[in-house]
Amino acid sequence: MEVSAIEVNGRKNSFSDLSQLEMAHYKNIAHELPALTMTERQVSDFELIINGGFSPLTNFMSKADYDSVLDHMRLTDGTIWPVPVMLDAEGDFAEALQRGQEITLRDTQGLLLAILKFNECWEIDHQREAQALFGTIDGAHKGVAYLYQETKQVYLSGELLVIAVPAHYDYMRFRSSPHELKNILRQRGWQKTVAYQAHGVMHRSQQALTQRVCEQLNANLLLHPMIGVSSDEYDVRVRCYERILKTYPNHHALLSLLPLAMRMGGPREIVWRAIIHRNYGCTHFIVESSDELREAQALAVQYQQQIGIEMIVANEMLYSEKRQQYVAQNDLQEGEVQLTISDAEMVECLSAGRELPVWFSYPAVIEVLQKAYLPRHQQGFTLLMTGLPCAGKRTIAKALLLRLRELTGRAITLLDDECEQGTAQLGLVAKEVTRHGGIVICALVAPVARSRDELREMVVKVGGFIEAYVSTPLEVCEKRDAQGRYNKARAGLIRQFAGVSEVYEAPLAPDITISTEGVEPVEIIEAMVKRIRLLGFVK
Ligand code: ADP
Repeated sequence: MEVSAIEVNGRKNSFSDLSQLEMAHYKNIAHELPALTMTERQVSDFELIINGGFSPLTNFMSKADYDSVLDHMRLTDGTIWPVPVMLDAEGDFAEALQRGQEITLRDTQGLLLAILKFNECWEIDHQREAQALFGTIDGAHKGVAYLYQETKQVYLSGELLVIAVPAHYDYMRFRSSPHELKNILRQRGWQKTVAYQAHGVMHRSQQALTQRVCEQLNANLLLHPMIGVSSDEYDVRVRCYERILKTYPNHHALLSLLPLAMRMGGPREIVWRAIIHRNYGCTHFIVESSDELREAQALAVQYQQQIGIEMIVANEMLYSEKRQQYVAQNDLQEGEVQLTISDAEMVECLSAGRELPVWFSYPAVIEVLQKAYLPRHQQGFTLLMTGLPCAGKRTIAKALLLRLRELTGRAITLLDDECEQGTAQLGLVAKEVTRHGGIVICALVAPVARSRDELREMVVKVGGFIEAYVSTPLEVCEKRDAQGRYNKARAGLIRQFAGVSEVYEAPLAPDITISTEGVEPVEIIEAMVKRIRLLGFVK
C-alpha cells in the first residue's frame, strides 16, 4: 500500500490506494471473490468517500463509528458526523465471510469499483437508526421508508481498496472533485465562497436570493446542486442552472454538480451538507428559512464553528408588483402584493401553452422549460380503452386511430389484447412511446382497477393519460361474440376470462365513458375526439 495521487479516467484523487501491480492482481482474481453489488446510493457514497467529499471518512463506517454517529452525531474520534454512510448486505452473504476476506464491490452494471477487506458485520436495528436519524420510526417518512424497505439485514465494514472511480458521462465540465474545485477557487482568488443547493429549477427569486447574500458578504457563489441518483431526472435542472449562471455579474458564480444521494434526514442532513460544502472549499452555505427548518438551523449553527463553515439563513424572495423587484419575504410592507409561482403552477402554465411571465424567470431558462414541458397538444399521451371482451374496444380503437392521425399527423401506436402480454408489459411500451411524444391507444380488457391505476401513474410522469371505459353490458358482449369465446370460457377452455371466470372491475371515474349499444361507431369516434380536445391533447 502506498499513499499517492492516483489517476483514474484522467481524474486525480488523493487517496490511499493500490500500486499498479496490486491493482492488476485484484483485477485478475476479482471473479473468484464474493461480490457485492452496490445500490446507486452506495455508489454515490463511494464516490464521495474516495474523492474527499466525505472527508474525514475513508471507508464505509465501522460499527463503533456507526454507533457513535447514531448516539452522539460524532465519529469515535470526536469529529462531528451526522449521517451513517453504510454498506448493507443480506444476512446469508455476511454469515459466510471470515475476517480478512476480500469482497468485490461493483456498481449496478457490475463494473468493479473496489475491494473490501472484510472486518466486521452486525445486524441492523432499523428502528433504532430511524429514530436517531429521522426522529421517528414511522414508515410514512420517506427516509424511514427507504431504511425499512431498501436496507438489508446486515452492515459490513472493512478496508476499502479503490480500483476505479464511478464513471460519469454527461456534464463533465460541471463535475469537479473537492480537490479540483478547491484549485479552481484558489485560481480565481475567491476568498469567500457561498454554496447554494437549489432543489428544483432556479428562477429570478432564487437568483435574487443568492445574489443578495453574495453582495452582503462580498462573496462569490457556488451553485452546488445534488444530482445523486440517476432516477432523479436532473437534465432539465442542469440546463437551467447553466443558463442562470450567466445572469450573475462578472462571472461571480460557478456551477458544480454534487454527486450526493440525499437521505431526507431533516436537521442532521443540513449539518451533513455543511460538512460536504466545506470539503468542497466553501466558506458559507445558504439555508432557506422555513418553519420546518428551524430545528435544522439551530443544529447547524451550534456546530458551524467546529465544522468550519458559516450558515447563512436567507428569507425567500418574492416579487413585489409595486416595486417591480424581488423583495425578501420579511421586508414586504403592509398590503404589498407579492407574487410567486409554484412548480406545479409553472408546469400547468406550460402544459396549457401559456407564456410564463418575465418577472418570474429569465427568457433563457423559460426556453429550456418550454422544450421540457410541451403544451398538452404536443405531448404524447396514452388512451386506455378498457371493457369486457367483445365490448367493442378494438373496433373503436382502430377507427379512432385513423381519425386522430388525420387530425394530428402524428405517429400512433395501437396496442391490444392480442399481444397477450398483460397490462404491465404493454404499460412499459405505452410509457416509452408517450415519453417520446407519440400517441398510444391501448385496447385492453385490463379487468383489475389497480393495474389500470398503475398504468396511469407510470404514464402521467411522462405525458398524458386518458381512461376510456367501453361500458357495453355483459349480455350485449356475449351476443356480439362471433368466435364464441364466452362459451369456451364457460366450458373452461379459456382460463381467466373477464366476465366469466375473472371479475371485471368497472372503472369508477373514467375520463370518458362509451356506450356502444345502438350507437354507430362514427358517432362514438366524433364524441371521443370532442372529449380528447376538451382535455387539451388535440388542438
Ligand atoms: P373488443 O375489442 O372489446 O373485444 P371488438 O371491437 O373486437 O371488441 O368487437 C366485438 C364485436 O362487436 C365485433 O364483431 C364488432 O363488429 C362488434 N361491435 C363493435 N362495436 C360495435 C358497435 N358499436 N355496435 C355494434 N357492434 C359492434
